[in-house]
Amino acid sequence: MSNFTLRVQGLCKRFHKDSPLVVNEVEFSVSPGEIFVLLGPSGCGKTTTLRLLAGLTAPEAGSIRMGESIWVEPARVVPIEQRELGLVFQDYALFPHLSVKANVGFGLRHLSKSEREERINSLLSLVQLSSLAERSVQELSGGEQQRVSLARAVARFPRLLLLDEPFGNLDASLRKELRVQLHRLFRERGMSIVLVTHEQEEALQLADRIGVMHKGRLQQVGTPQEVYLRPRNEFVAKFLGDATLLSAHAQGRVATVKGLEIPLQKEATGEVLLCLRPEHWTLTRERPTASALKGTLLEVEFRGAFYAVRVETELGEIKVVTDFRQSWKVGEEVCLHPGEAAHILERN
Ligand code: ATP
Repeated sequence: MSNFTLRVQGLCKRFHKDSPLVVNEVEFSVSPGEIFVLLGPSGCGKTTTLRLLAGLTAPEAGSIRMGESIWVEPARVVPIEQRELGLVFQDYALFPHLSVKANVGFGLRHLSKSEREERINSLLSLVQLSSLAERSVQELSGGEQQRVSLARAVARFPRLLLLDEPFGNLDASLRKELRVQLHRLFRERGMSIVLVTHEQEEALQLADRIGVMHKGRLQQVGTPQEVYLRPRNEFVAKFLGDATLLSAHAQGRVATVKGLEIPLQKEATGEVLLCLRPEHWTLTRERPTASALKGTLLEVEFRGAFYAVRVETELGEIKVVTDFRQSWKVGEEVCLHPGEAAHILERN
C-alpha cells in the first residue's frame, strides 16, 4: 500500500514571467486511504495546486511522485491520461448530452455489463440519485450535477482523487451524510484524497491531515487537532477559528500580561505571542485575582449547547464559549480565567 503514497516536493508555479509565485515551494504527502485537505482563503493557490497534481498545468519547479511513478520532475511532465486519478472541479465538466447513468458509467467500459450496472447503481445510491438515473444531466440542479460529478470521479476507484470544493452546492444534512459515506468508501478502497476547501469546519471534520495555505505557501501541515490547538503562526490561528492573541512576557511555564498570569504549554523566556481559543477561557462571577481578568459582557448568544459571549477587558475584546447551565446578561461584570495552558505562536 505504501507504494502508492503521493509525494509533492518543492512545487512552484507562476502564470507570467515576472509575476509572483502563486504556488510557492509546496510540499506534502498523502498515504493510501488518507484525506488531505488543502485549506485557505480565496486566491491562495489551492486550485492551482490541484491542477498541477492533475497535470492540467505544468510547474516552474518541483516534483510529484505517485508511489514509484514520477509524474512531474524537471523537464518531464506525465500527461493527465497516464495518471490514475479522478477529478471533481468546480465546473463539474459533465457530458451534457448523456444521462446521469451514462456519465457515471463513462469510464467503466472495461467492466462487464453486469459489473458496470452494479457499480453505477451502488454509486448512484451513495450520492442519492438513483431515482434520476435516466435523466439528462442538463435537467439537474447544481447540487445534483455536483453529485453526478462525484460519482463519476469515484467510479473507477482511482488511486488518487482530486476534489475542488466538492460539497459546495449541497445542503448541510446531505453534505454530512455524503461525507460519512464517501469517507468509508475512500478508506475501504485505499484511495488517496486531496480536497480543496476554504471552509475550516469542513476541513476539521473531514481531514486526516490539513495543509493550511496562504499566498501560495503551506503555512502548516498537521492533523486537525494540531492545526487548531497548536497553530504555527497568527495566520493559521485566525483562519482555523476564533482566537485571542496576546503579547506577553514569559518566564518558565508562566507568561504575564498587564498583571494577568497565564500558564504556558511549554517553558519560554522573554516576549511571546500567545493563542487562546474561546473554549480555553473560564467565565465566572468571582472577584478578580492575579490569575483572572476583569471584564464586561458585550454580547451574549445562546447557541443551545453553549453560550458564545464577547467580553470587553483591558486586553481588548475576548471571545469565550461557556457552559449552557449558567445564564449570562449583557452588561454584567465578570471574570475571565485562562483555564488551559496557552500555546505560543511563531512570530512571522
Ligand atoms: P478559490 O478558493 O477562490 O478558488 P484558490 O485558492 O483556488 O482560490 P487559485 O485559483 O489557485 O486560488 O489562484 C491563485 C492565484 O493565481 C490567484 O491570484 C489567481 O488570480 C491566479 N490565477 C489562477 N489561474 C490563473 C491563470 N490562468 N492566469 C493567471 N493567473 C491565474
